[in-house]
Amino acid sequence: SLDAAELYRACLRRTELIKDLNAFVSIQKEFRPHKWSKQNPSRLNNIPIAIKDNFCTKGIPTTCGSRMLKDFVPPYNATVVEKLFNQGAVIIGKCNLDEFAMGSGTVDSIHGPTKNIWRSNIAYSVNNQEVKLPVDWRIAGGSSGGSAVAVATGTCFAALGSDTGGSARNPAAHCGIVGFKPTYSTVSRHGLVPLVNSMDVPSILARTVSDATTVYGVICGRDPFDSTTVDIDITPEKPYPIDPSQIRIGIPMEYHPSGLSEEVLAAWEMVASIFEKAGSSVKKISLPHTKYSISCYSVLNQAEVASNMARYDGLKYGYRPNEGTSVESLYAEARATALGQVVKARILAGNYFLLQRNYKKYFEKALKVRRLIVNDFLEVWKSVDILITPTTLTEAPSLSEFCKLDNRQQCSSEDYCTQPCNLAGCPAISVPVRLSANGLPIGIQLIAPNYKDFFLLAVSNWLE
Ligand code: GLN
Repeated sequence: SLDAAELYRACLRRTELIKDLNAFVSIQKEFRPHKWSKQNPSRLNNIPIAIKDNFCTKGIPTTCGSRMLKDFVPPYNATVVEKLFNQGAVIIGKCNLDEFAMGSGTVDSIHGPTKNIWRSNIAYSVNNQEVKLPVDWRIAGGSSGGSAVAVATGTCFAALGSDTGGSARNPAAHCGIVGFKPTYSTVSRHGLVPLVNSMDVPSILARTVSDATTVYGVICGRDPFDSTTVDIDITPEKPYPIDPSQIRIGIPMEYHPSGLSEEVLAAWEMVASIFEKAGSSVKKISLPHTKYSISCYSVLNQAEVASNMARYDGLKYGYRPNEGTSVESLYAEARATALGQVVKARILAGNYFLLQRNYKKYFEKALKVRRLIVNDFLEVWKSVDILITPTTLTEAPSLSEFCKLDNRQQCSSEDYCTQPCNLAGCPAISVPVRLSANGLPIGIQLIAPNYKDFFLLAVSNWLE
């Protein structure tokens, strides 16, 4: 058995071995043990955990993968980080992401892209001196790709990600691990740099559903710093046993878009048949407004981005240009220099949607569509307990394949199955179920009604 310091060193060694995958933005070389005592027991006693670099960490740079925050060192911890510390966790490092979490690949960060461990051959090169990655490696998925690779390579036991449209579930599926997005409002967003306030959820990447349950039990609950949070009554440390014969499963017909690969479809059918064999009722259901979800999300996302990014004016945070002849030119110079193309494009689009003459046509319409999508879910929960869908449409694409598409196209195919849950707020999890013919992991998504998080985890644990 390892003691805590040895365990930490072992994890640190792994971060060294996988350096070329670029999962970490910064690493905490020094082990700062948690003082455990009977009076001060902890659920995560000295367990190394990694944190996506859009959660504020006191004294540790929080870059959001952006030049804008390259040198930003927050003076406080995000509530979730604080809660992890209070339960004894140690932070091993901060993880790479798409700039301000805008993306589905972890390809768009000032720190460079994160590479997937699968098919990267890095595991075979570890004992040789030189680590060579194939030219066309697979993407890690995103935007929490760094967190997913950190977990998949065993540098830590779990990682925090954020999920606004699929950013935790997507890289989890591509990296062969578990990615859990809890119900909106059950986990505090205080100290998570906002992308879309009405959809952001601090999320968990872990190797097993059981680990994800433990971490969720630690980070969930009401926080006076985030007025959207609610109280959680019970927080079991492990998933409880369930009886699959009592569960009604729904298979949404609309989750068969063009681009869904044969292999993912087969994995989805396999999972449905596992439940069926165990006595669950499995039936096809309809979420009729699914096809509007991506456009609706994209309008709301860009509108919220436009207002959220206004704080980066070159004065309050981060990058500050050397000189400016006026306040306006200082703002303009800071934003022109320190924000990437994807971010700028979203700000522009968002401001366009929010123009007085467009507000009704786009923003208000999108809010109405969101309501229809929420209602779709509420309707199906009358007759099923869990929905099963793919997480992503395909296995992890190679970098060159992925970069043939622009950010918008990337997100609309990568987030197709994950993003409606963010509009509806419901909990969803990606569980790795099999490998593709190329030897890449495929994840399947399970979705439950709002606030049924522990039930969802219990069902997923049974499946796992
Ligand atoms: N891909 C989506 C976007 O870029 C979702 C990102 C996320 O969940 N953080 O907006």
